[in-house]
Amino acid sequence: MGKRKSRKAPPSKKVAQKVATAFDCPFCGHSGSVECSIDLKDRVAKAECGVCMAVYATIANALTEPVDVYSEWIDECEKANEGVDAEESRQRGRRRRRRLT
Ligand SMILES: [Zn+2]
Repeated sequence: MGKRKSRKAPPSKKVAQKVATAFDCPFCGHSGSVECSIDLKDRVAKAECGVCMAVYATIANALTEPVDVYSEWIDECEKANEGVDAEESRQRGRRRRRRLT
């Protein structure tokens, strides 16, 4: 009798986990132009903008996620900007305080 036994289970392709996510670039402002890749073999996490070619690389571990790499990059950018802003506002603040009294 026609017992159908030819139903093969689909071969479970074990695709290497592709960890690439798109983010907004802090340099050129393009949305979705930054791709994060994490290489656990070399323990390198990279975020790269496909538009202005800005790159940020950091050390990756098993817990590193694309968003971590990206937020670290943003932190670095903000730190760099803060240095400039703090210096500027310090001088402005002095002037302003004098005017207020
Ligand atoms: Zn960019």
